[in-house]
Amino acid sequence: MKIGIIGAGQLGLMLGYAAKSLNLECIFLDPNKNSPACDVGEVLHYQFDDLKGIEQLFSLTDIITYEFENVPVKSIKILDSNYVYPGTIALEIAQDRLQEKKLFELLRIPIAEYKEINSHSDLLHAASQLGYPFILKTRRFGYDGKGQVLLEKRDDIDNAWIEMKDQLLIAEKKVNFDYEISAIGVRSVSGETAFYPLTKNTHKNGILRTSETSLENQSITKKAFKFHSKLMSKLNYVGVLALELFIKGNKVIANEFAPRVHNSGHWTIEGSKTSQFENHLRAILNLKLGDTSSKEYVAMENLIGSIPSEIKQLNKDFFIHDYGKQERPNRKLGHISVIGRTQTERDSKLKIIQEILSNTTTI
Ligand code: AMP
Repeated sequence: MKIGIIGAGQLGLMLGYAAKSLNLECIFLDPNKNSPACDVGEVLHYQFDDLKGIEQLFSLTDIITYEFENVPVKSIKILDSNYVYPGTIALEIAQDRLQEKKLFELLRIPIAEYKEINSHSDLLHAASQLGYPFILKTRRFGYDGKGQVLLEKRDDIDNAWIEMKDQLLIAEKKVNFDYEISAIGVRSVSGETAFYPLTKNTHKNGILRTSETSLENQSITKKAFKFHSKLMSKLNYVGVLALELFIKGNKVIANEFAPRVHNSGHWTIEGSKTSQFENHLRAILNLKLGDTSSKEYVAMENLIGSIPSEIKQLNKDFFIHDYGKQERPNRKLGHISVIGRTQTERDSKLKIIQEILSNTTTI
């Protein structure tokens, strides 16, 4: 069985390792030479919107999936819907924050108050309706906090407008959340579903730094899984889906969803009986899903900008993943996972990593 994967970045690499463990072969499509996944399969070098590349991938593989959400929808649309998962609808909605918000509203999933912005006067109106602070976001192609401006006072309006006006926009009330989580779930072709334990996420400059498992609040867990299930069933979704949520007290507020395996689920490689990568493949191949329960307490720390030598020298209690990418400020180059029988044991390992990174970080 051959799996076609659009995108050959680190998510493709980790999907490739999971595929090998299931005796599956992967062929990737990615215009970049030396992309991380070239270690685990052939890479066809075409632009993502070059339909010749998609057709070649189609002719060489049995099923296709994608590892990032900015794949051009037109590239997916030429494929039979039984051949590409998670499919066109989820991709199209995830690419546009306005459509995503409307879907959350339709499903009665709570979100931050927002306004569609098409003009300077819309922005002024949004400021009076939402109040400060609020965030102006591009509807498309935002990631890792890019394409966002925080407006704290009236004086910020004109500069924000000049910076963002050439793009489709929404304004969103800033949520004064206690913390952020992600709910990662998976649904197979036959409709079987499974969820990983919720992950608590810490961001810095809009980029995910740390994910920790074993959030034990039952009320939050119930709401998060309910919202996630509604999304997957409405989208007739197949594969892994990550739903990012803000938590304020017992309130669960949706931020966005990603129709793919997710950075906040990397801990599942060592920390769960079945990783998110294996379960994504199982889902699209309509195999029985693997056990998603987690072993003890797990955490993951992203390695961003550089990987200090002290990190590379850590012992085998630290599961280090180096994606083989060139160092660059703010670039995700790898991650480390740690496991503890108790939360204290896990946290003390995490502290070792964070101390090294805070002493050597280049960003
Ligand atoms: P996003 O690209 O929407 O996932 O945003 C990246 C990060 O910015 C989120 O993980 C939050 O930490 C922060 N953020 C985004 N939207 C909001 C909001 N409405 N209120 C507060 N923080 C936000």
